[in-house]
Amino acid sequence: PTAGRVRTRFAPSPTGFIHLGNIRSALYPWAFARAMGGDFVLRIEDTDVERSSQVAVDVILESMEWLSMQPDEGPFYQMHRMDRYRAVLEELKATGLVYPCYMSIAELDALREKQMAAKEKPRYDGTWRPEPGKALPAIPEGVQPVLRFKNPQGGVVAWDDKVKGRIEIRNDELDDLVIARPDGTPTYNFCVVVDDIDMAITHVIRGDDHVNNTPRQINIFRALGKEPPVYAHLPTVLNEQGEKMSKRNGAKPVTQYRDEGYLPDAMVNYLARLGWSHGDDEIFSRAQFLEWFNLDHLGRSAAQFDEAKLRWVNAQH
Ligand code: GLU
Repeated sequence: PTAGRVRTRFAPSPTGFIHLGNIRSALYPWAFARAMGGDFVLRIEDTDVERSSQVAVDVILESMEWLSMQPDEGPFYQMHRMDRYRAVLEELKATGLVYPCYMSIAELDALREKQMAAKEKPRYDGTWRPEPGKALPAIPEGVQPVLRFKNPQGGVVAWDDKVKGRIEIRNDELDDLVIARPDGTPTYNFCVVVDDIDMAITHVIRGDDHVNNTPRQINIFRALGKEPPVYAHLPTVLNEQGEKMSKRNGAKPVTQYRDEGYLPDAMVNYLARLGWSHGDDEIFSRAQFLEWFNLDHLGRSAAQFDEAKLRWVNAQH
C-alpha cells in the first residue's frame, strides 16, 4: 500500500451472531477509511476453532452487505495464515527475544496460589527467562515448552489513544507473554500483531475490552522492528437494561433488524450516533456521515442502545 494511506480493519471473532454492539466496531473503521480515502480490511479471527462457525461468518458478511460496509480487502481468515505466523515466530526466535519456558501448568498454579496467599498480583516469575550470568533450571524430560516473549524490563509502554487519551503502562507490570503453545501454535496477541503488520494497518479502532492487550501488542510490534498503529478504543455498547450488550443477554443478530424492515441508512445513522457526534446533528445521510467522520469526536463513555430511538431515526429516513 502507498505510504501515508489510511488502512483500517474490522477483526471479528465468529463465535456468535454479530449484534449491534459488534457491528458498531466495524462502522467506525469503515467510515474512517472511507472519509480518508483509504482501505478497509476484513479479518476473521477464527482461531478459537471450538467456538467459531461458518454460520457466524455468514451473518457478519450479510450484515456488512446489508449496511453497504463492504471491505476493500478480505475476508482474511486467521486459520489460513498459520504458516505465516509460524514463519514470523522463527524470525523472532532468531532475535533472542523469545525463550522456551518449561514451567508446567501445575507449577504455574502453585506459583499463583502462593502469590495470591501473599496478596500479590499473580504473575509469571521469570524462572526460565534467560539473563546474562543467570543459571536456568535443568530442562525437565518429556515437557514441551511454551514460548514466551521477553518483555522489555523497566520503562513504560505508552500510546495516545484517540478515545482514551494517553495511556502509560509500566513494563514491569507486564508478564512475559506466552506467544506459542507447547504444540507450536501461535497465541492470539501474536497473530493480531502479525496481521496488523502484514495488512499494513495504520489505525486500529476496536472495543475497549482490548485495552489490556494493547501494551503487549505494542511491545511485540517493536520487537519485530515495526512501529505500532494509532489506536482508538471504543467504549462498550450497553443494552436497554444497562448491561454490556451480548448474545448471552438477548442481543439480536444485526440481520434481524434487516428482516424487521429497518432501513440500512437509518441503521448506519443510528449506530454512528451511538458513540460519535457531529454537533447536535441527529439525522444525517450516509454521505454526510462519511464526509464528517473523524476520530476526534468519539464518545468517551459507554453508549446505551434504545430501540425507540432507533425507530424514530428510521422514521426520519
Ligand atoms: N477478534 C476481536 C474481537 O472480536 C477483535 C480484535 C481486534 O480488533 O484487535 O473482539
